[in-house]
Amino acid sequence: MSEIIDGKAFADQLSEKLTKEVAALKSELSLQPCIAVVLVGDDPASHVYVKNKVKRCEQLGIRSIEHRMEESTSQQDLLALIASLNENSDVHGILVQLPVPEHIDDKAVLAAIDPTKDVDGFHVQNMGALAVGEPGMVPCTPLGSLMLLKSVLPELSGKHAVIVGRSNIVGKPMALLLLQQHCTVTIVHSRTIDIEAHCRRADILVAAVGIPHFIKADWVKPGAVVIDVGINRIVEDGKSRLVGDVDFDAVRPKTSAITPVPGGVGPMTIACLMHNTIAAAKAQHQQS
Ligand code: NDP
Repeated sequence: MSEIIDGKAFADQLSEKLTKEVAALKSELSLQPCIAVVLVGDDPASHVYVKNKVKRCEQLGIRSIEHRMEESTSQQDLLALIASLNENSDVHGILVQLPVPEHIDDKAVLAAIDPTKDVDGFHVQNMGALAVGEPGMVPCTPLGSLMLLKSVLPELSGKHAVIVGRSNIVGKPMALLLLQQHCTVTIVHSRTIDIEAHCRRADILVAAVGIPHFIKADWVKPGAVVIDVGINRIVEDGKSRLVGDVDFDAVRPKTSAITPVPGGVGPMTIACLMHNTIAAAKAQHQQS
């Protein structure tokens, strides 16, 4: 029997724990974790993501400061804002919602964020720390995916994990996290020959491709755990809905556990952002 991993319930539980932690920080240390969220431009999806993040912060007692900037904002002005947020000791976390408009170099933006405030975990210093096993900010989606995976498979040592996708924000950090857990890790991508054969060897299959229903039932080893990171909007019979990168209905019977979309990894990403913001606030408080 295959278990559906309830990411929403897991994220709610984590948020409850974090709410208590924020309350304790306020009462014991007079410390209120604070995140600055920067949004440049008019991308409708980004506006929804930022709204959800800010709402979640409020629910947990984390202070949030929103900076909305015009689509025409120059890179120089954005970097100046980041520099001022880096200097502001009341701000513990900085998140620049991606994508930024095309005339702005996102690498330069991410590099400008103080790594100790980089709650998305995208700064090369944090990626490097993850690669060599040093403490640092871990990107939220892979961190949340790992938490869900461990909820059904606490011992990962020796398992063969196959990750479909090699992006800097999901595939690569996920691979590094699973290596830390002593998995044998294979990453496949658009140039991989015979992806299906690699997937069929996976005890743990992580899909982060961005193609609806990409992973088919006959690619999945019986009893595998499948983590579907994909969020794809499709229109069927005139109705729009979200689906993952995994052909869920067909794949589920082959698995021992699987995350649904929506309600799987998605809710964990925001919960882990809050987790990182609180960790950043505590670390900065200790150093002050
Ligand atoms: P990217 O587009 O950055 O990366 C996609 C990866 O998939 C690339 O490595 C690409 O390979 C690979 N790929 C594309 N086509 C194929 C193919 N035909 N065969 C094999 N591999 C292929 O996407 P992200 O990593 O940012 O996101 C992946 C998915 O996860 C998306 O659906 C996104 O919406 C979702 N997502 C969900 C989050 C959440 O909170 N749940 C957060 C972030 C993302 P190559 O490198 O060779 O081009």
